[in-house]
Order: sequence, then C-alpha cells, then structure tokens
Amino acid sequence: MGVAGLLINCYPIQFFANVQFVLGNTMTVIAAVLLGPWYAFLTAMMASTGLMLIWDSPHVYLFFGLEALFLGYARRRDIYALYADAAYWLLIGAPMVYLYVVFLMDIPPSHLGFIISKQGINGLIYTSIASLLILAIPKLWFLKDKVKDRHRRQLSAQLTYFFTLMVTLTLLFTALIFNFYFLERQQVMLKQNMNEAVAHLSISAQNYIDNHQIVIKNTANQLGLVADKPEKWQAILSNLHQSYPGFISMLIANPTADIVAASPASRLIKQQLPEQDINIKDRDYFIESFYNHRLFISSVFLGRGFGNDAIIAMSAPFYLDQQHTQVAGIVEGSLDLTHFSHIDQVNEYTDDESIVMVDEQNQIIYASEKLDLKPLSQFNFAVNKGVYRANLELINIHNTTSIVPEYMYAHRELNNGWTVYILKEFSPLLKLAEEQMFASFIMLLVSLLCTFYISTKLSALLTVPLEAVANQFSQAYSASGKTSAIDDNSPREVFSLYQRLAASKQQLIAHQVELEETVAKRTAELEKANKKLTELVDRDALTGLYNRRYAERKFSELLDFCLQSDQAITVVVLDLDLFKQVNDNYGHLAGDECLRNVSLLLQKYFKRDIDVVARYGGEEFLLILPLSNTLHIEHHLNGFREALSQLEITSPEDKQTFKVTVSIGAITANADYEIELDKWIKVADDNLYQAKQQGRNRTIINIITD
Ligand code: GH3
Ligand code: MG
Ligand code: MG
Repeated sequence: MGVAGLLINCYPIQFFANVQFVLGNTMTVIAAVLLGPWYAFLTAMMASTGLMLIWDSPHVYLFFGLEALFLGYARRRDIYALYADAAYWLLIGAPMVYLYVVFLMDIPPSHLGFIISKQGINGLIYTSIASLLILAIPKLWFLKDKVKDRHRRQLSAQLTYFFTLMVTLTLLFTALIFNFYFLERQQVMLKQNMNEAVAHLSISAQNYIDNHQIVIKNTANQLGLVADKPEKWQAILSNLHQSYPGFISMLIANPTADIVAASPASRLIKQQLPEQDINIKDRDYFIESFYNHRLFISSVFLGRGFGNDAIIAMSAPFYLDQQHTQVAGIVEGSLDLTHFSHIDQVNEYTDDESIVMVDEQNQIIYASEKLDLKPLSQFNFAVNKGVYRANLELINIHNTTSIVPEYMYAHRELNNGWTVYILKEFSPLLKLAEEQMFASFIMLLVSLLCTFYISTKLSALLTVPLEAVANQFSQAYSASGKTSAIDDNSPREVFSLYQRLAASKQQLIAHQVELEETVAKRTAELEKANKKLTELVDRDALTGLYNRRYAERKFSELLDFCLQSDQAITVVVLDLDLFKQVNDNYGHLAGDECLRNVSLLLQKYFKRDIDVVARYGGEEFLLILPLSNTLHIEHHLNGFREALSQLEITSPEDKQTFKVTVSIGAITANADYEIELDKWIKVADDNLYQAKQQGRNRTIINIITD
C-alpha cells in the first residue's frame, strides 16, 4: 500500500494556482483503518516520499505521518475515519500548515486561507474515497480483522456515516469540478479582456503617434510654401500648435541650427540663454532631418527646460526649392507622452488594470501610477514559471524572484517597435478561488448537518418499530398485556415481521399449554404407578398383607415410638396347623384361598393404624403390635385363634368347606427390652414351637414386665 501510495502521489491532480490534489494518501487511510496506527505511519512515510520527489518539501512527512497516527488511534477508539480526518485537519493540520506557510514558505498571507482549506478538503476527499473502497470491496481486504471492532454500532450511526461519506464525496467532487471550470472560464474571459484592452490601447497609441507625425509632415509642407519668408514661420507654428496640444512644444530651426521660431512663444525667451541652449545642431532630430532629409521620430528622452516629462521629438525638413535639394530649416514637435495617462484613466478596467508602455529599447515610456515605475527606467520583469498553474501568462515586476505571481498580462508591439503591456493583479483571481473553496466548505458543512438529521430520521424508521417489536415479545411487555405498539408509519417489512412473530408466539403459547397438560397427566400416571410399585415392593402378592421386609423396616420405627412413651410392644409369630394337609386334601388353590381368608381375619382383628400385619413366609404370619395392653393381649390373640377355628373356608374348585387352626407364639415386653427384631422373633418362635409341641391351636406368650 505504501508503494501504491508513492506511485499515485507522483501524479498529483492540478487544480488551480499552486493547488494540487493528492490521492495517494488514500492508501494511508486504508492502512489506518485496517491495520492500525503504526502500519499507517509506515504507509504514510512511503506515500509522502512520492510528494517529496515532486514538491521537494520535507514537511509532508510531518503532516501526513501525524495524520496516519491520528487516524489509526481514532480507529482503535472506534471513531469513523472521515470524522477523525476532519478533526485532524481542523485541530492539528490547519494550524501546522499555517505555521509552515508563514515561517518557511515564500507565500503572501492572502493565500493562506486558500492553501489551508485546500489541504482540509483534500484530506476529506481521500478519506472518503478510502472509506468507500473499504466498504465497497470488503472481501479484498483479507487484513480486515487486524483491528477489531470494539462494539456494535447503532444503525443510525452507520447510516449517518455512509450518507455522510456519499454526500462528502459527491459534493466535493461536484464543487471542485464546478469551481475548476468556473475558474477556467474566468481566466479565458480575463485573457480576452486583456487582449482587447491591449489592442485598443496599442491602436490608439499608434494613431496618436501617426497623427502627430502627419502633423509634422504637413507643417513642413506648409512651411515649404513660405520658405523664403521666415517672418511668417512663427505665426504658422503658433497657429498649428494651438490645434495640436499633444505637442508640449514646437520649434523651427534654420540651417545653422538656431531656433528661429518656437511655441509656446515663451520659448523665445530662451534666446537670452547661453548659445548652446538655443542652438540644436547636436540634436538627433536636427541632424536626421537636416542632413538626412528624414521625417524623424526620436527615442524617448527627458525634455530639457520643459520639466522632466518623458517626451519624444518628431522633426521634418522643409525646402526652399520644389526639388527638395536645399533645406530651408526643420520643424520639430515634442510629443507629450503623459497623453497615455488619459487613455489609462478612461480605460474601463482601470481599477485593477495597469498599463506599461515601453520603447524599442525597453525603456518605460509610460506606466500606470500605481505600478510605481519610473519613466525611462528599464522595464524589468520575470515571467513566472513557478508552481502556479493558470491559463494566463504571469509575471512579476516588483519581486522578480518570488514564486508567487504578481500580475497576469497581455502585450502587443506597435509599428515603431514600442510595446504595450496590460497588467492585471493575480491576487483577486486567487481570492475568487479561495472564496469558492470556502463556499464549498460551508456548503459541505450545511449538507453534513442535513445528512445527519435525515439519516437519524431514516434509521428511526427502522429502529423504532424494531425496538417496539422487540419490546412486544420481551417478558416485561407480555406481562403488562400491551398489544398495539407498532404504528402505521413503520415499514411494511417490520410490520410483517411483527405479525409473524405474533403468530408464532400464539402457537408457542398453545403448544406450551398442551405440553403442560400432557406433563400433568403423565406425572399423575407416573405417581400412581410409583405408588403401586412401592406397594408391590412392600406387600405380599397373594394376601395383600405387608411382607417380611416391610415389617422388619417398620419395627425400629415403632420401637422408637414406644420407647419415647415407655410403652410395651408385642411381637407375634403365627403358623397355620397342618397346612400341608390342606394343600394335599383340597388342592393348592384352596390353600391359597385359605391364606387369603386368614389374612382378612387378621386385618379385622388387628386393625389399629399402628399395627403391622405381615405375611412372614409360606403359612406363617408376623404381627407387630405397639402400645400393647399387657393385660388384654393374650386374650385378644386367643380371640383371633378361636375366630379362625370357627371360620369356614370354601375351596374355589370343588366348593368343599373346611376349617384351619393356628398356633401362636408371642412376646410382650417394654420397648427397651431389646433393639433387634430377631431377638423378639426368636422368643416368639420358641413359644410357637412350644405351642406346636403341646398339640397345636393354642397361644403361648411371654409377657415380660418390669
Ligand atoms: P405343622 O402343624 O407342623 O406346621 O404342619 P404343617 O403341615 O403346617 O407344616 P409344614 O411345614 O410341613 O407344611 C407347610 C406347608 O405349607 C408346605 C407347603 O406346601 C404349604 N404352603 C406354604 N406356602 C403355601 C402357599 O402359599 N400356598 C399353599 N397352597 N400352600 C403353601
Ligand atoms: Mg410352617
Ligand atoms: Mg404349619
């Protein structure tokens, strides 16, 4: 990018005067945005070398190096390049250019505004181009991620920036192209004006000289008619001089070069002056006319005895004979060259136009007063070939070494070798260019304000309804139940987005309700199944009684309960008598039926909530009876035993009826008797064994009391 910048900068675009537009710095801006300050600095150094080559001014390294760093750091702070560059030229660049031009350059202060505003506008142009390039071909910038975006920018900020970019570029280009053509046109017109003026001036100067020459010639002819009557010469001369006031003075000299007639007549008084003053035999005009028989026009010289005005002498011989062989004398007129000041004054462009007229030896015959040039001095000037670009020819006449041109000029040579110059000051044209530049800048500023306003409004068209849509679907809003936040001004796309979101939200809610119902149903089912499962785990399948595991688990809980209230607890083991014979006699199903009947009866007899009635295994049952009444427990057990022995059981197969008895072993003791259930069961089991031994269908219980 540095090399590209260098190459581009070698060909700056000429605008007007010494203004050139530099585009290579576009590369610096791209580097600043994509790579950060130090790469940008490097690029700027290389690009500035291109300018150094053509301008030969090392200051570019400073201006553009600082600009690169400034842009790079601004980018890191997430400030857009265009804004940063405008700030740079306002705050740093312009003051630096000012100081540089004032202290180090030979440029008058009147050009300052032009140079500084040009520099700023130039900066805005290449920054805009760079920003648009980055935006337009993002894929090409594989370096893009070197400088990371700190945070997301608002849509309005982005819109504003891109609008600003477009407006800046189009406006600047339009303004500059317009200004360029306007200045071109202005120069063409100026050139035309000056050419017309110089033509007009040279024609009237030519006429002035020619006419007076003819006057001298005619005077000589007229004097020739009275060549033998010298007393008439003075009258003729005075008469003629009155008709032609363009001559300061006129005189007639005889062949011995003595002045014999003069006008104004006061000239004759000079005859009292010493000899050499009235004898003119050494004068060119006498010599040329008398000896060479010529109609003569002298070079410019300062008149003697008639003030210090620049004059030219015109002279012609007149003859005694028709054949023009014998000269009777010469007539001379001193032409007043201040006449040109009249032409100068009636010149309609006289305000800023000056006239310089020089003779064939480049001596100043006449120069407009404001030029402050001495008549008869040499007209020195330097054709300006400096860095200033203009379609007009430029010269310096006061400070001939300055690179800043003073005047534009046009010139023309007269027949007699004189040259007429028309000079016009250059600075008004520059002023015009400066005013245009300034107007463009103001225009840009106003447009930027408008752009800012419009793009804010535009982005609001999108962001406000979008935000409203977002709010619509956020928690807070759905709770408050607001529904119509989308107004009629919002774009169709946003409205359609809103509608679709609303529809899907509706669907979502429906789905959610459905889901909740299903979940509730499934949960209930699951709970039921779970309960069943726990039941199944704790219960015996055949009888529906608690199983042995449940009884064992429950025992310690019940024991604790009884311990707290210092109560007795009873553990009972029951075994059906000769149950094998039931199976054998009535079948297995009858055995099962018998077990179910026994169970029902057990539940009927031991129906307190805290009683545990469990099937211990096979045809054995286990009872845990907390809070036992030691006085009644044996009686209650025998009540059950007797009730069972009365119970008629019907076989489900052959409907035969039969009865069973039960043997019961039990222990009743205070809860602190023993912690382990096994110990209790052991005692109860022993008692059951005793009951079986003693003939069955009986109860043996140990009641251990304090
Ligand atoms: P005793 O008076 O000495 O207890 O004699 P008994 O026949 O009851 O004793 P034994 O232990 O010899 O027999 C128990 C029988 O109980 C054996 C078995 O077939 C029967 N039995 C155990 N569980 C079930 C059951 O679930 N259903 C049926 N139908 N019979 C069972
Ligand atoms: Mg048994
Ligand atoms: Mg048995």
